Amino acid sequence: MNLHEYQGKEILASFGVRIQRGMVAQNPEEAVAAAKQLTEETGTSWYVVKAQVHAGGRGKGGGVKLAKNLEEIASISEAIIGMDLVTPQTSTAGKRVHQVLVAEDVYYPGESETSEFYMSVLLDRSSGRNMIMYSTEGGMDIEEVAEHTPHLIFTETISPAVGIMPFQARKIAFNLGLSGTAFKEMTKFVMSLYKAYEESDASLFEINPVLKTSDDKILAVDAKVSIDDNALYRRKVYADMRDLREENAIEVEANAVGLNYVDLDGNVGCMVNGAGLAMATMDLIKMAGGEPANFLDVGGTADAKRVEEAFRIILKDPNVKAILINIFGGIVRCDRVAQGILGAYKNMGDAIKVPIIVRLQGTNAELAKEILDNSGLAVKSAVQFQEAADKVKEVLAL
Ligand code: GDP
Ligand code: MN
Repeated sequence: MNLHEYQGKEILASFGVRIQRGMVAQNPEEAVAAAKQLTEETGTSWYVVKAQVHAGGRGKGGGVKLAKNLEEIASISEAIIGMDLVTPQTSTAGKRVHQVLVAEDVYYPGESETSEFYMSVLLDRSSGRNMIMYSTEGGMDIEEVAEHTPHLIFTETISPAVGIMPFQARKIAFNLGLSGTAFKEMTKFVMSLYKAYEESDASLFEINPVLKTSDDKILAVDAKVSIDDNALYRRKVYADMRDLREENAIEVEANAVGLNYVDLDGNVGCMVNGAGLAMATMDLIKMAGGEPANFLDVGGTADAKRVEEAFRIILKDPNVKAILINIFGGIVRCDRVAQGILGAYKNMGDAIKVPIIVRLQGTNAELAKEILDNSGLAVKSAVQFQEAADKVKEVLAL
């Protein structure tokens, strides 16, 4: 589950990580009130107004703006709230902005230069350990740094047995070229950032940029945080931070009825039991010249009710031109699944306008095919994988 920048920063602050302070606002009036309060608390006279959407690159897309007084706070938040923000990480339609973070300006001039670093904590799947990834090249697209100057990205692997050691934090501060106060600040930053990651059951904490201010403070200017979905049951405070407006509406609905559904761009809807078979089915669709419109694993209990729910979810996607049902009858018998499909078809009546290809394999597969073939419904049945592929090709050519 992904969080907004302001929520990620709240978590960071609760673990003692220094952050660029700010307050979230739903409208220009709240933004102005937030700015006034910020000035009382921090003494700042300039502010940044930051669109809160689940996408990076907001700066480039015009979603991060400097405001030098309260009038600018009002006009900038007026312009940003309600806009469809397009960034390199969103679709061309953009993401609707519902709220902004009004934050203190931390790029003020002073004794020394400001510097922007990159730092993230994440699970390195190849070593099975958490690691800290960091770079002097902060503020910009880290994928670009990784592609063109990979030697500027460092990693530090953390032992699960002993956790992060102070020498590792010092090594990071050293590699980032820091000394004096900034060095000490950075070691504290790293230690508390890692603690935040570990104790919130996160799968990612990405801070880009980590800023060294002109008076040698180290703080988080941005925060991209993902909490492990499987840990949400024991992290209620974070679970409550979920913002469904940021998530795909069909996926939210599918998850609510317990279906494992991921929305994709293609035109062939698929309904499959088991994640492995679902992946193979998506390959099959591609090889037949189609593009999968979704990943959908209906799980072990493919009864009529579930099949119908799955149909309804798939049909919500206007791009679907055909549906391929590929179910292996192991525990569930194929004839029962066939009955389920017919039941759903009858219940949904003319809601189903696209051709349906059904491949049932396993227990009672032949009987299931017979049931479908004799049903008089516009369902094309197949027993073999290749047969199903050919039929997908056939209906796509129509
Ligand atoms: P992102 O573009 O979505 O990654 O959003 P960020 O929170 O990283 O902000 C984008 C950029 O805005 C940063 O890299 C900074 O250059 C700039 N920025 C953020 N906070 C401030 C601030 O307090 N003052 C100034 N002048 N610039 C800021
Ligand atoms: Mn950023």
